Amino acid sequence: MIKLKIDHQEVEVPEGSSVWKAAEAAGIHIPALCLHNELDHFTSCMLCLVKDGSGKLFPSCSVKAADHMQIITEDEEIREGRQMALELLLSEHVGDCEAPCQIGCPAHMNIPLMNRLIAAGKWEESLKVVKRDIALPAVLGRICPAPCEGACHRKTVDEPVSICLLKRFVGDENDLHPWPVPPLEGKRVAIIGAGPAGLAAAYYLRLRGVEPHLYDRAPKAGGQLRTAISRDILPEELLDREIRTILATGVTFNGNTTIDDRHFEQLRRNYDALIVATGNIDDTTKAFQLAGTAKGIQVTGEGYETSEAGIFAIGNVLRSSRLAVRSVGQGKEVAFAVLQYFHGGKIIGEPRLFNSRFGKLRPTEFAEYLKESVAGKRRFPADSPRGFTPEEAVEEARRCMHCDCRAADDCKLRDFSTRYAASQKRFQTSPRRDMTKKFQAKGIVYEPGKCIKCGICVRLTEKYREKFGLTFIGRGFDVEIGIPFDESMDVALEKVALIVAEGCPTGALEPIRKAGDPLQ
Ligand code: SF4
Ligand code: SF4
Ligand code: SF4
Repeated sequence: MIKLKIDHQEVEVPEGSSVWKAAEAAGIHIPALCLHNELDHFTSCMLCLVKDGSGKLFPSCSVKAADHMQIITEDEEIREGRQMALELLLSEHVGDCEAPCQIGCPAHMNIPLMNRLIAAGKWEESLKVVKRDIALPAVLGRICPAPCEGACHRKTVDEPVSICLLKRFVGDENDLHPWPVPPLEGKRVAIIGAGPAGLAAAYYLRLRGVEPHLYDRAPKAGGQLRTAISRDILPEELLDREIRTILATGVTFNGNTTIDDRHFEQLRRNYDALIVATGNIDDTTKAFQLAGTAKGIQVTGEGYETSEAGIFAIGNVLRSSRLAVRSVGQGKEVAFAVLQYFHGGKIIGEPRLFNSRFGKLRPTEFAEYLKESVAGKRRFPADSPRGFTPEEAVEEARRCMHCDCRAADDCKLRDFSTRYAASQKRFQTSPRRDMTKKFQAKGIVYEPGKCIKCGICVRLTEKYREKFGLTFIGRGFDVEIGIPFDESMDVALEKVALIVAEGCPTGALEPIRKAGDPLQ
């Protein structure tokens, strides 16, 4: 047996074990992309860098553990080395982790998933997806200027998907809160202002076991949704109905209540946290004496914390905006921040993952995306005031090209890029390659732009003795995964298509329909 120290911990492993395996045995997980438990090491990603006692860096997958080694698996220098290794891989990566519409939506709604569920006729499930991020879908479906549609890939070559009308359809179809509300956990939050930001904050806090109390000077909740928008565009009964859905989850509304500086101090004493969502800055708000900017109340980045601990501010009190969806999005995000405050953690708001982005879709790439969509112009409802019928909604949702990555939830490259704060742009020099998608009849799609050349697929096809299998083609930076004799993916992956897709650490090789896919 070999005895060594890893991160000051004594470890004993059989002779011949790599340093990486020794660390695993000690419960220390060193990141790696090109390692696979059925295969020998390949040492291409360089993410498994560690340091020995002399300070020398080396890949832990290919160096054998030896007696008296003293290994450090994580420090500033190692982190920088891993970040650089990731940035080199990302510099030539062609893929969108999240669809551009989702990134363009100020509430960060999962639009492609909503579209897939509508296309599959699953209304209640699509409402769940929408309500995870947007508390007032039927309202916003009528008044939002749809920045998501401005970012839609389909717009580059055709016309955007009617995302906003689809969201309205989902909100109109079902007005109940679509999942169980958790029990209260003992914390109370006062929210000053019951406009779109305050309502959303109350809703998302209640869904996290917090008891929210809304205060507003008006007799009914809704803020500027009630005063600044024509009833022809936003009928009052619809606004009432959607606000009722929020209040019915267990949100207390106190109307006809102006909060002046004296009340503000009382609320501060009586509640565990406060959120200021008054919609504008006036003398009453100024009397709260929170530090400000030229545009409104000053807050910390995405955490929305004001100059006073435990007091948060969202919506138009930060700066004036005509986008109600921005206020609704901030209402969702501040709920994360308040919970982080309660738990004593760093206040960062809604956690964000790394996002690979490849920019505009080229006209030649449209055909690749159409492989998962249908041709045809954008649809509008035949009866405009009524909105989409179910048939129209399904047809329009089918125009979505599903620009999000199939691996977005389980991609190791994305996970490690988030962990090491990698930048995709740092080493980007040449124009990107074209995005292509190769579909295999046995249920696999191969996207070469997302391949990091880890060789796992090549080695698995060798191990399982595929007749053709996959191979490396070309040299140096131009090397690609290909199929001998220009055969098809179906021929290359006769036996191990799913094993290979499972082993691929990125979204380069993925099952066309993963478990739980609504279009399955
Ligand atoms: S392969 Fe990974 S990093 Fe690339 S687009 Fe997909 S999820 Fe993002
Ligand atoms: S085509 Fe669909 S997934 Fe792609 S950007 Fe537009 S709405 Fe989003
Ligand atoms: S396609 Fe093959 S070489 Fe490329 S990332 Fe996936 S497993 Fe690695």
